[in-house]
Amino acid sequence: MFSFRARVFAAFVVLAAAAIVAMIAEDSSPAVIIVVVALLLIGGALLLAAISSIAGSARVMAGASREIAEGQFTVRLDGGPSDEFGDAYGEFNRMAARLESLVAETSQERSRLTAAINSSPDAVVALDSESTITFASAAVRDLLGQTPEEIVGHPFVWMMPDAEVIEGLHASSERGESSSYVIERPNRRFLRAIITPIVGGGAWSSLVVFHDMTDVKRVEQVRRDFVANVSHELRTPLAAIKSVIDTLVEGGALEDPPVARDFLQRADGEVERLVQMVEELLELSRIESGELSMTREPVDVTIAVGSAADRLKPQAERAGVKLSLDSAEQLPFVTGDRTSLERAIVNLINNAIKFTNAGGSVRVSAQPSDGGVLIEVSDTGTGIEPQDLPRVFERFFKADRARRAGGTGLGLALVKHTAEAHGGHVEAKSSLGQGSTFRMWLPAAR
Ligand code: ADP
Repeated sequence: MFSFRARVFAAFVVLAAAAIVAMIAEDSSPAVIIVVVALLLIGGALLLAAISSIAGSARVMAGASREIAEGQFTVRLDGGPSDEFGDAYGEFNRMAARLESLVAETSQERSRLTAAINSSPDAVVALDSESTITFASAAVRDLLGQTPEEIVGHPFVWMMPDAEVIEGLHASSERGESSSYVIERPNRRFLRAIITPIVGGGAWSSLVVFHDMTDVKRVEQVRRDFVANVSHELRTPLAAIKSVIDTLVEGGALEDPPVARDFLQRADGEVERLVQMVEELLELSRIESGELSMTREPVDVTIAVGSAADRLKPQAERAGVKLSLDSAEQLPFVTGDRTSLERAIVNLINNAIKFTNAGGSVRVSAQPSDGGVLIEVSDTGTGIEPQDLPRVFERFFKADRARRAGGTGLGLALVKHTAEAHGGHVEAKSSLGQGSTFRMWLPAAR
């Protein structure tokens, strides 16, 4: 159809014609008046049509712009007029399409960033200059026990009223300083809070990242306990040896050979205990560091169990404890180090005899089980307090009542590490005053 400009031009031509007719007419005959009025009407109608077509197109574009402003980026204008506004419709649609793809790209980028931050085990919290939480990543649930929805929009101090951290936040937002603190949370949980100012973050002014330090702290504690335990355990026999030597030197016992022999025997017992402890410690650390070059040979468990029981028979007899052995005839072989396996079994039987009073009994058995061999040592001895039971495999653990039995507290730790180094596991069951059962399972050789 006609363009907007052509229509306006036509309207002006008709209006100009009306003016010319009115000017050149010599009289005001009705015919002249009719022609002028008709031309005016036609010109006015043409102008009105042209203006209303612009107004219609402008209305349609305004409506579409409003929808885009409200976030409906899929809006497009179709069936545009064939005049100049047809081109404007096309440009508008191109702009809307570009806007839609820009917004989609931005929101995809944002989702990726949020997903990456939410996948981190560290909790990330963003704050505005008033220290109000404006963003919190998913890990706050695990580390701080609150969901992001619960804390966003609330002051940081509500979530963590820790004076040091609050002070760090002020330093960050006012002086742009970074800081880091270790804070203790309920249930002996430790978090490192790292506070950094956000540069160019608009309303976001500080970032706090919480990193779980519980495991690191636990390892530090275990190391400290270990050093304390070793020192304590070494001090006792060393003090005993020192007092024997002092008595011998100063007390004149050297002049009395039977007394001197008795003192030296006592010192010898303590030295033996020290040597055993140091050997067990070395063995433990070698197994743990994977340094122990364990022979990988087929081991007949029936023989290993029988030989361990034989070695301890005299000790059981001395203690008045009945030691019985009950092994299956056909046991699968296991792959490993015969010496360390036998030492582990000796440790279990030795404990069973040590913690069983005269008249009691110790039963040792080995049976095929679950694709491997189950070695079981049960006694009718003192039993273990329920609160001590989960700790018996820890290094240096000795139940209070067992202290006088004079062990090192390392035997069961060695048993556990030996079993695990062979791909097996251990467990203990006990009922106080009735006895205990220790089980060691080892996988069969392939
Ligand atoms: P220890 O050298 O003290 O025997 P272990 O590591 O072998 O060290 O044992 C750790 C602790 O476990 C013992 O001190 C004792 O309290 C407890 N325990 C181990 N075996 C038995 C058992 N058969 N009966 C009762 N208590 C036991």
